[in-house]
Amino acid sequence: MKKVTLHDKHFEPFIGAAELAAAIDVVAEKVAAKYADNVPLFLGVLNGSYFFASELMKRLPITCEISFVKVASYHGTVSSGTVSQLIGLQERIAGRHVVVVEDIVDTGNTIEHIVEALREKSPASIAIASLLLKPDVYKKDIPVDFVAMEIPNIFVVGSGLDHDGLGRNLPGIYRIVNN
Ligand code: 5GP
Repeated sequence: MKKVTLHDKHFEPFIGAAELAAAIDVVAEKVAAKYADNVPLFLGVLNGSYFFASELMKRLPITCEISFVKVASYHGTVSSGTVSQLIGLQERIAGRHVVVVEDIVDTGNTIEHIVEALREKSPASIAIASLLLKPDVYKKDIPVDFVAMEIPNIFVVGSGLDHDGLGRNLPGIYRIVNN
């Protein structure tokens, strides 16, 4: 792994692909143990989650379903501020055990919106699985149930994460070089 340049920014290797894969092994075992008997529905949040969703799925020896959604946020006419809509959700949610699959949880605003939208559809349970979590930033009450790796408050790319469209295909995780 060596430094890469994406648009105007430089990134250096941070977490190797093998280390990341080992962390996904561990989190996949926990997910498999929890959902062995109830055919969960995994909902990957596009675009960033495609890598983690795929890596997680191939490690799960359980019967499960996977689908993908996009989150569209807009300012509603009501005073409550930002409204989020899940685009592409066709599966029945009522009574299902749903696991939202994310690339990274930072402030938690995104998962908060997703969980609010899903709750309206009366799932049996909702859990969050994320490849990365920034615990120094995340202050929401929603539990992030399954996390492969915690990272400090830095901007990273690779393994699904992009900088303005680039870098999702990089193996492992790269961090921004500030200079
Ligand atoms: P949150 O809503 O939790 O603040 O942020 C979640 C979204 O912000 C992620 O799905 C991702 O798109 C973006 N994000 C947050 N931190 C990073 C980061 O370090 N790198 C990249 N590439 N995206 C990030």
